[in-house]
Amino acid sequence: MPHYYIWTIGCQMNKADSESIAAFLEQCGYRLTSRIDNADIVVLNSCVVRQGAESKVANKIDALRRLDADKVLAVTGCIVDAKVDGLQNRFPRVDVFFGPQDVGRLSEYLQGRGLVESNAVTQNLPVKANISSLINIMHGCNNFCSYCIVPYRRGREVSRPMADIVSEIESVVERGAREVVLLGQNVDSYGHGLAGNPTLADLLEELNRIEGLARIRFLTSHPKDMNEQLIEAMARLDKVCEHLSQPFQAGDDDILKAMHRGYTNAQYRRLVGRIRKAVPDVALSTDVIVGFPGESEEQFDETRRMIEDIRFDTVHIACYSPRAGTVASRDLADDVPASIKVKRRKELEALQEGIASEINSELDGCVVEVLVEGRKKGKWWGRTRTDKLVFFTDPDDYLGRLVKIRIEGTSPWSLQGIVSSI
Ligand code: SAM
Ligand code: SF4
Repeated sequence: MPHYYIWTIGCQMNKADSESIAAFLEQCGYRLTSRIDNADIVVLNSCVVRQGAESKVANKIDALRRLDADKVLAVTGCIVDAKVDGLQNRFPRVDVFFGPQDVGRLSEYLQGRGLVESNAVTQNLPVKANISSLINIMHGCNNFCSYCIVPYRRGREVSRPMADIVSEIESVVERGAREVVLLGQNVDSYGHGLAGNPTLADLLEELNRIEGLARIRFLTSHPKDMNEQLIEAMARLDKVCEHLSQPFQAGDDDILKAMHRGYTNAQYRRLVGRIRKAVPDVALSTDVIVGFPGESEEQFDETRRMIEDIRFDTVHIACYSPRAGTVASRDLADDVPASIKVKRRKELEALQEGIASEINSELDGCVVEVLVEGRKKGKWWGRTRTDKLVFFTDPDDYLGRLVKIRIEGTSPWSLQGIVSSI
């Protein structure tokens, strides 16, 4: 039986795309292997959102330059742009480059080599049902934040029809999923361009009715598009978790303007106030960039203050990395020295570690509901509705179950507990 190997880095959308590629290859008779030397087809799913990720991808492709000629090396993800010839010259060993979600191109290439049948299906394949399943609800992005390469590589925003999403989720639930994570670069603008203009709130309403589905999450939200209808749906629908990703990127208004984010510091703070009023237990996560062109110490302080004041549950902090082709890399000098960027990142990481430690310690002694997703080194692990990672030890089988856990230990990153009898 022929085998495939997939390597994935980057965001959860890339992970979801890899699952679609896997579903395609499985349908063509290939089976997953964890060993490259055992694979007939090797797929690398790339991320180039920052230089560090791009370098990792380039190193991975280079490391495979002596891969046996009879094996297929395919590369997808955000490294693939319209100028495939340039990529082909840079990485001559790669057999085929295909854009994110363009499984059709991979299929075409494999058909050309007689490795898959000409009638291979490439759309709406049954993706693997994980207990927490990743579901792309839209592709691309229309926002063009000045630093970001994503819209250039993933194209303009396109929402999947609601009926397709509902039937895909019904199918994963039938096969054992208990939670779905709805994915898109800007899920708040879901539905634009679809007949009847459905909204994300409408989709959540529909999904909330699916029997057997216990939890719904969605990411990433954009502060400029988060609206009252969505906040109200979050507050009202019992399966929608109290967990929201709301990237603010920078605290200073001039930096936010230069980033083309479309909101101010004060607007963001008011939005958080409205969300917390409607969903009091909500856990907030955010993304931050430090060292954007021109960022002074005072401007950085605004970002630090935002983290201190809002007290997010999770903060993803990145040093600004100029991306060729973006407005920021074309128009703004990357003038914050690397050492300062790293210093600012570390300062925020230390600050956030303290905040997360305090927030999590408040759960000590509490009973939380955990959806169990797996077992690692003899410990069951799962997540709370607020996306906190919880570990516990117990001889029974809890896989896929919702279980009450009494928390007995906390750290900034996870919680430990025991099965509660109440
Ligand atoms: N769509 C989401 C949003 O609006 O924030 C996030 C998608 S983006 C691929 C993931 C994160 O990468 C961003 O939130 C941002 O913090 C970071 N990022 C994107 N471009 C970057 C760059 N050029 N340098 C540093 N970080 C970057
Ligand atoms: Fe990139 Fe901005 Fe789109 Fe997020 S919203 S993917 S940061 S352009």
